[in-house]
Amino acid sequence: MKNLIKKYYSFDTIKIEKLVGYENVNYLVTNEGQKFVFKTYPWSSELFDTLTAETDVLNTLSKSMSGKFPEPVKNINNKYVEKAEFDGKMKIIRMLSYIEGELLAKVEHNKKLFASFGTFLASMDKKLSGCNNYITRSKCFKWDIQHFNLNKKYIKDFTDAQDRKVVKYFFQQFDELVSPALPYLRKSIIHNDANDFNVVVKDNEVCGIFDFGDLVYSQLINELAIAIAYSILNKKNPIAYASYIIKAYHKVLPLETKELDILYYLVAARLCTSACNSAYHKKQDPDNNYISLSEKPVLKLLHKWLSINPVFAKNAFRSAAGMYVETPKSIRQVIKERHKVISPLLALSYTKPIYMSRSAFQYMYDEYGNTFLDAYNNIPHVGHSHPKVVEAGRKQMARLNTNTRYIYDELNRYAGRLLSKFPASLNKVYFVNSGSEASDLAIRMAKTYTGYNNVLVTKYGYHGSTQTGIDISDYKFSHKKGQGQKDYVFKTDIPDTYRGKYKTNDGSAGKTYAQDVVADLKKTDKPVAAFISEPIVGCGGQIELAKGYLKKLYPAIRNQGGICISDEVQTGFGRLGDYFWGYEAHDVVPDIVVLGKPMGNGHPMGAVIARDEIAESFETGVEFFSSFGGNPVSCAIGMAVLDVLEEEKLQENAKQTGNYYKKGLEELSKEFECIENIRGMGLFLGIEIVKDTVSLEPDTKLAGIIKNELRNRNILINTDGPYDSVLKTKPSLCFNRENVDQVIQNFYDILKTHYHK
Ligand code: PMP
Repeated sequence: MKNLIKKYYSFDTIKIEKLVGYENVNYLVTNEGQKFVFKTYPWSSELFDTLTAETDVLNTLSKSMSGKFPEPVKNINNKYVEKAEFDGKMKIIRMLSYIEGELLAKVEHNKKLFASFGTFLASMDKKLSGCNNYITRSKCFKWDIQHFNLNKKYIKDFTDAQDRKVVKYFFQQFDELVSPALPYLRKSIIHNDANDFNVVVKDNEVCGIFDFGDLVYSQLINELAIAIAYSILNKKNPIAYASYIIKAYHKVLPLETKELDILYYLVAARLCTSACNSAYHKKQDPDNNYISLSEKPVLKLLHKWLSINPVFAKNAFRSAAGMYVETPKSIRQVIKERHKVISPLLALSYTKPIYMSRSAFQYMYDEYGNTFLDAYNNIPHVGHSHPKVVEAGRKQMARLNTNTRYIYDELNRYAGRLLSKFPASLNKVYFVNSGSEASDLAIRMAKTYTGYNNVLVTKYGYHGSTQTGIDISDYKFSHKKGQGQKDYVFKTDIPDTYRGKYKTNDGSAGKTYAQDVVADLKKTDKPVAAFISEPIVGCGGQIELAKGYLKKLYPAIRNQGGICISDEVQTGFGRLGDYFWGYEAHDVVPDIVVLGKPMGNGHPMGAVIARDEIAESFETGVEFFSSFGGNPVSCAIGMAVLDVLEEEKLQENAKQTGNYYKKGLEELSKEFECIENIRGMGLFLGIEIVKDTVSLEPDTKLAGIIKNELRNRNILINTDGPYDSVLKTKPSLCFNRENVDQVIQNFYDILKTHYHK
């Protein structure tokens, strides 16, 4: 190599040192105390043209901003870029000046340094905007954010499902929000790789940049997106650091609002490009540490990026540039508008209701820039806006959406897949659009099959909002504003080992509760058509049915001619961690199972799963048809939910994170007497708030304070139970330990302030 250099450059006394490079081989060359970088590349005429174009740009830049960029050095043939033979192979060679200083990646970061970074980039971009190079303009490659989608093919290379889903999410957001905006943004030649290993610092100021290999004609804002993406890695407050750069950049080269408004997603896109390429190269060459150098911090930032409301980022970036920040309507105003058209009977959560704008996995974003950690909503089972679910729905909607009066594969496939989650005896499915419709249909089927009319329900149970739904929901009909108990409905106490009559939890209490029910049933002359209950009574305050209860009661119900229905609207699909369906915890198999909420991750879906004979008896009646139930879009979405549950091992996560959550709450209860009886399974937990541990008097007021204070600290949890004194937490199954820590820490702080004992 030394000889090659000597041959082409009239350097006499040289020292060379190989440098680590991404694709090409570079050498640090010292000649008479002066440093240069010698670069070699495998020969290709395309690359030769590209390097020649780069040389033109570097020469232009160096003319007015000398010493800040690598300056091309002519060889003895008076050429900057030359074709040369080395070791029998054709190469391209060239020499550039070396910029002295430290790398941005290696120095301590501060506001002043970041401001100088912004100023430097803007000054460079101003010069670059004067360059017009057709070879650079025609470049199309994956590291140019406008061609972000070229990286989509690497999504499959991620080994970690949580990383994969986040990357996929940002691809989808890009398609939705960035792609339509890009054609309207100004373009220019940009450096396109101002990453912290290419940026040189001297005396706490950015003084140079090298590696112009990614030079491209792209949207100007992409320059900033890239610079920001790398420089904010490992920062506690990445938005603040990004803002230092933006503010200084804007002073030199004014930015436009439409550029700043998508910057959040452009930064994410660059991080995803980096993560995608790490995933791909890691698969090809697991031992190359250089390639995966930034992988961990990049993925960490991508996950953290989700916890930043895009509105917050947009506002912060606009303010950094001294631009106008839009203020959304006040809560009072939107509520007023809502009540002009929507009845106040549709209640709002919290003393301070939330004006929502977007959501991502366990996070929800409001219109004002706040991010809420959603520890409450169980409908987005696999996470809000999960990209796989969104994609499934979107694709199917664009292809075919019809009803069950036609034949289409999605229905058969999904029905088969769903039934595979049940024991063989539960082998027919009826699709509807909600849990309410499902429990309504289940009761109708039970009545048809048995020929009886009476229904047995549990106290505080809730099964739906149709007339039958309300009739069989004590939570509604016994409410002080409710319609009262219908004569065909019988109710039993919840077999509750905490507040109930029998308190042992070895199976004997459950049995006794069941015996009491059987004795009561004997007193009536007409058998019940069905007994319906949840395995954990949600509206009752997450009360787990006592062990042994269903095991004893189910046969008794069947003996008197009825059937047993398990309402799995809340407890199903792996939420309980140890069990995919709640009834499994009781070692029973129901005759009918009612499904809803999580089934479509927010897309309205419900189903009744029934035994053959029950389905057959129903078939003798009038046709069953639901306009939307079982449509191909719903089937595709339901299928995606099942896929995600498996790919991301979410049932296992519900178990692990749920146990960790329960332990954290138990620790809290040791310090605060008001926390009593933490119950539930997996990520379906209830926390009983009481006035004292002797009387166990429910503390409705304190529970309300905790709920609202958590909301004020951007954590969503709700209360329920007959006294509204049970905190309910049932987050998406992707909830993680860090999320749990955030809930526990805030819960602790609130009790420290608001609980005096
Ligand atoms: N059953 C249970 C146990 C529920 O929690 C609910 C909803 N809260 C329903 C049925 C009714 O479902 P939907 O609101 O989808 O009609």
